[in-house]
Amino acid sequence: MSKFLIDKYQTLEAYVPGEQPKNMQYVKLNTNESPYPPSQTVLDRVSSAEVSMLNLYPDPDCVNLRNKLAGLYGVEIDNVFVSNGSDEILSFSFMAFCSEETGAVFPNISYGFYKVYGDLYGVDYTQAPLNSDFTVNVNDYKNVNKTVIIANPNAPTGLTLSLSEIEDIVRSNPNNVVIIDEAYVDFGGESCVELTKKYGNLLVVQTYSKSRSMAGARLGFAIGSKELISDLNRIKYSTNPYNINRLTLAAGEAAIDSNDYYMANCCEIIKTREYSVKRLAELGFSCTNSKANFIFAKSDKISGRDYYLKLKSNGVLIRHFDNPLIKDYVRITVGTKEQMDRLFEETEKILAEVQS
Ligand SMILES: *Cc1c(COP(=O)(O)O)cnc(C)c1O
Repeated sequence: MSKFLIDKYQTLEAYVPGEQPKNMQYVKLNTNESPYPPSQTVLDRVSSAEVSMLNLYPDPDCVNLRNKLAGLYGVEIDNVFVSNGSDEILSFSFMAFCSEETGAVFPNISYGFYKVYGDLYGVDYTQAPLNSDFTVNVNDYKNVNKTVIIANPNAPTGLTLSLSEIEDIVRSNPNNVVIIDEAYVDFGGESCVELTKKYGNLLVVQTYSKSRSMAGARLGFAIGSKELISDLNRIKYSTNPYNINRLTLAAGEAAIDSNDYYMANCCEIIKTREYSVKRLAELGFSCTNSKANFIFAKSDKISGRDYYLKLKSNGVLIRHFDNPLIKDYVRITVGTKEQMDRLFEETEKILAEVQS
């Protein structure tokens, strides 16, 4: 830290992304990316013709992309906002809808960035404890008179709230924005996009990073009332109007054109998840009922940290969090069946070692 950093940032604790190893020796099951490549249509559309236009700014209104998303989700273009990864929407939303006065509430175990944005923007936030079975306690979010942020499915537990629970939360906070982060919804969750037509205070956030194999392109989107979207645009046009580059726009449009390919991949990942949960149970692990592209698991034979470290030294990368509330658990991204079989093979070896 330099002496020039202004006071309010000196104690800021930044978000720590999962490891992105420079050599790809690892079976990489640690940051919830898709194991499948982008569709052929995406590969074709990010063409040298597109690259040769990089001297020109992209469309700041992202009209073509927003039109395609509006078509896919059955809303109007003015109900769609797109951004440089959904992290940017979350950042803009904290800027737009949370403050010291407005406040915010989100679960104490959830996506780690909520707390970072809360600190960054000086928000008076509350972290509501999960129930002992890691479910979200809906009552903590009703009539709170604060901005509500919930990931559904939640991370890293994979557990979901029902649509009627979400609707109760939205209805009980008519004077506050409710942000539902649906980063993992395509893996078996239920989207609340339809509810945005009924409630002007609901903002649904999704990303291309997981189900659409585009973590490296950085593209997220939000769906909500015209008013909320125009608030986000005010922040965007005051920060970085060209927030989505030309190549990512082309890729994002092409991905919607090949939606069937991605939905088929999601089905495959769901199948592999169910297979993997069964295999893990046979190995003495207990898993939450995850509806995401990851498994949240705890062994009865080895600590979360030791399991993570031993797997890593054997070439398989998963995620472990030091937070004492979940330190017994690991989060394992669902890869291909072949990748998961390699995980089980290494796990069997590790458990045999531990028991001898
Ligand atoms: C991965 C993730 C994001 C961020 O996704 P990007 O679009 O890659 O920025 C947001 N929320 C949750 C819950 C996530 O897991």
